[in-house]
Amino acid sequence: MSTTLAKSTTTDSVVHYTLEAIDQMRLWSTIPDPDLLQAVLKPTRQIVLEIPLRRDDGKYETFQGYRVQHNNSRGPYKGGLRFHPDVDVNEARTLAHLMSLKTAVANIPFGGGKGGIAVDPRSLSVYELERLTRSFTNLLGDNIGPYRDIPAPDVNTNGQVMAWIVDEYAKKHDHSLGVVTGKPIELGGSLGRDEATGRGVMIAVREAARERGCDIKKARVIFQGFGNVSSFGARLIENELGGKVIGVSTSKGAIYNEKGIDLLSAEAHYHKNRDLKDFPGVTWMTNDELLVQDCDILIPGALEKAITAANARDIKASILVEAANDCTDFEADKILNERNIFVVPDILANAGGVVVSYFEWVQNLSNHYWDLAKVRQELERIMVAAYAQTSSVAGEHKYSMRMAAYTSAIERIVRAMALRGV
Ligand code: GLU
Repeated sequence: MSTTLAKSTTTDSVVHYTLEAIDQMRLWSTIPDPDLLQAVLKPTRQIVLEIPLRRDDGKYETFQGYRVQHNNSRGPYKGGLRFHPDVDVNEARTLAHLMSLKTAVANIPFGGGKGGIAVDPRSLSVYELERLTRSFTNLLGDNIGPYRDIPAPDVNTNGQVMAWIVDEYAKKHDHSLGVVTGKPIELGGSLGRDEATGRGVMIAVREAARERGCDIKKARVIFQGFGNVSSFGARLIENELGGKVIGVSTSKGAIYNEKGIDLLSAEAHYHKNRDLKDFPGVTWMTNDELLVQDCDILIPGALEKAITAANARDIKASILVEAANDCTDFEADKILNERNIFVVPDILANAGGVVVSYFEWVQNLSNHYWDLAKVRQELERIMVAAYAQTSSVAGEHKYSMRMAAYTSAIERIVRAMALRGV
């Protein structure tokens, strides 16, 4: 297969990075069957569903639902479900592909999957949301399960949505808490799952700063985002590392103050007003403006495609840590590399969420629950090992951290495939 041709035509950055990694790996002597490399380019199964919903006013409507199962050679498919108007099969495919790589980088025994429903959940009542989630679960049928495919929360989904899935799944299968992760604590959720992605980002920031000789106690940090990942991440960077957060944002706009932001007050303001606007003592600006403000560490932690060729040249940070999936497109990535900006890629930086999902699943299957200290300690161990392994591959081959993470992940997947046999 001519990967060079495909690389010049694809607009999907994740496919582009994968093709680049495959090109590199063809030169490696350690790959058992180089033909298998291309298997990671395509998902195993793409499920497209038409989900019926009776609205509260009696009207009938349908919504499109998706689940893409990318690769399960290392373990059951694993990855989130998002409820967002932009969800489609292409987005689910890209994100499922990233999940296969992410679980491989973290070296946890899962493959990758992703899905969701093309809907704005704020346009539904809570009863409609429950019926839609139950309908979706029913239509997914045997395609999900604790040893098959394990969904989790993602954009606009939460523990309550996972609880409805557990309940609906149990109507046609054995009772099984391990069918989804990210559940409420009362229903088999893990302590520390809510902070997990943010804590993993904090660990990635700490390791990257250490590697680059950046004194984290003097570092000025900007988060694009203020949702679950960014708010936990920001707080942990201040509380546990002593860094200073000088900018955060929501989809409506950003706040910036070079002297630092009072995060607890900003959170209280946001929860009260559903907006950061009018928060006192800061400069209000757009998300695009925030990304190019002066800082040492920039952390895109909102939706995809934040960093593009349009802003990559103006970024002032020397370290960029990708808390959001697929947030840097391949043209921007090239510019960042040329400018010697150190990028910790999404599949490493935001793996903390799925790592604690793994702990949740282990606890569900063993019916034995861990305390918070154990969750944090195990997360620390796995994140530090994944960072060190990626950094060592980068050093050995003179790769960027992204290329090192992609090649290490693909190598693990392909080795598992070769051992199983085709
Ligand atoms: N949605 C999260 C992610 O993108 C977590 C997935 C999971 O826990 O399975 O990594």
